[in-house]
Amino acid sequence: MTEKTLPFTQAQLAEIIACYPTPFHIYNEAGIRQSARQLKQAFAWTDGFTNYFAVKALPNPSILRILKEEGFGADCSSLPELLLAERVGIIGTDIMLTSNETPAEEYCKAQEMGAIINIDDISHIDFLEQHVGLPDLISCRYNPGPQREGNAIIGNPKDAKYGLTYDQLFRAYAILKEKGVKRFGLHAMIASNELNPQYFIETANMLFDLVVALSQQIGITFSFVNLGGGIGIPYRPDQIAFDLGAFSRGVEALYHSKIVQNGLHPLQIVMECGRLITGPHGYLVTTALHQKETYKNYIGLDACMTNLMRPALYGAYHHITVVGKEQLSASHTYDVVGSLCENFDKFAIDRKLPKIDTGDILVIHDTGAHGHSMGFNYNGKLRSAELLLRANGDIQLIRRAETIDDYFRTLELEG
Ligand SMILES: *Cc1c(COP(=O)(O)O)cnc(C)c1O
Repeated sequence: MTEKTLPFTQAQLAEIIACYPTPFHIYNEAGIRQSARQLKQAFAWTDGFTNYFAVKALPNPSILRILKEEGFGADCSSLPELLLAERVGIIGTDIMLTSNETPAEEYCKAQEMGAIINIDDISHIDFLEQHVGLPDLISCRYNPGPQREGNAIIGNPKDAKYGLTYDQLFRAYAILKEKGVKRFGLHAMIASNELNPQYFIETANMLFDLVVALSQQIGITFSFVNLGGGIGIPYRPDQIAFDLGAFSRGVEALYHSKIVQNGLHPLQIVMECGRLITGPHGYLVTTALHQKETYKNYIGLDACMTNLMRPALYGAYHHITVVGKEQLSASHTYDVVGSLCENFDKFAIDRKLPKIDTGDILVIHDTGAHGHSMGFNYNGKLRSAELLLRANGDIQLIRRAETIDDYFRTLELEG
């Protein structure tokens, strides 16, 4: 069970809303730091463990600064994400570019920054060499294909567009060695929002086996393996949090039996989790504008799926708290919906909740990753503000809400 609580009281929230009208996302700094520390702590047994925070999950400099303080790097997949990392002083090999269909200018910028480039295809070796030149250190993304099953969000590896096949990996590292690359990394990311530690232990097993085979057959030395992101969080109250201890112990045992036993120690282990770190520490705060009773009972919010797309995109569950009514019984059944002209725009379908009145504040939980960042402007909806609840209790505006001027800015209005 995971208790779905709020990091602020009803009175505090009312004060915040008096300054910053709903809807907005608010992130809890203390929680983010705690999650970052728990991950690092779990892997304290291995030197140099770090997490390259997946910037796409929560691309805000104020958040990246906190994570830099916690010793994290940045996992980027576009030029603007590289620039965000650079802006907060995350530099060099603290940045990993795990991208696909990458334009030359992104490889250029990554190379100029000294970031670790993680190539997504064997053809990118030539592409990189032509446009940028090959770096000393390079990583390849492995796609195990039919060997492994993914899950609903990311799909099965054999249908996924990412990464190199087994055979291609052997060819790629041999080519890279011949071309003078000195140091190597290996990466895989094949599950998303997965709560079973065994899945990731299996990924570590697969990558350690590959490191052994590639090292022996090609005669290269690996600096690191990147176990990817994708660790899940308990969106539902009846789910339990990912067992980091069991995961880490599983990886440690394999590290000894495969890496140490084969004389390949030291090998740095890194990850690129986003959701695990910030997901549970974000809240979408919204107001109930309308109640409608037709063939179903609807609560219409001032937020919509442009603020949080996951329920519409994946049918994802996000817990909802009706502020001030936490102790009341869930006596009513509602569809909780936004205002898009699009019937997918529902935060919850047939959800049991306390009786909701117009003007009630609803908090949608676990919006700290892949929430605001997935936003879009369909139907002329403007992106909301982002706030940070600082560890000392202060509230900081870390992104203002978009305005109508922002919406018009890219348009040619004359003729
Ligand atoms: C999206 C993504 C991540 C982060 O995923 P989380 O579920 O937020 O941990 C990490 N690596 C790659 C390559 C990704 O595409």
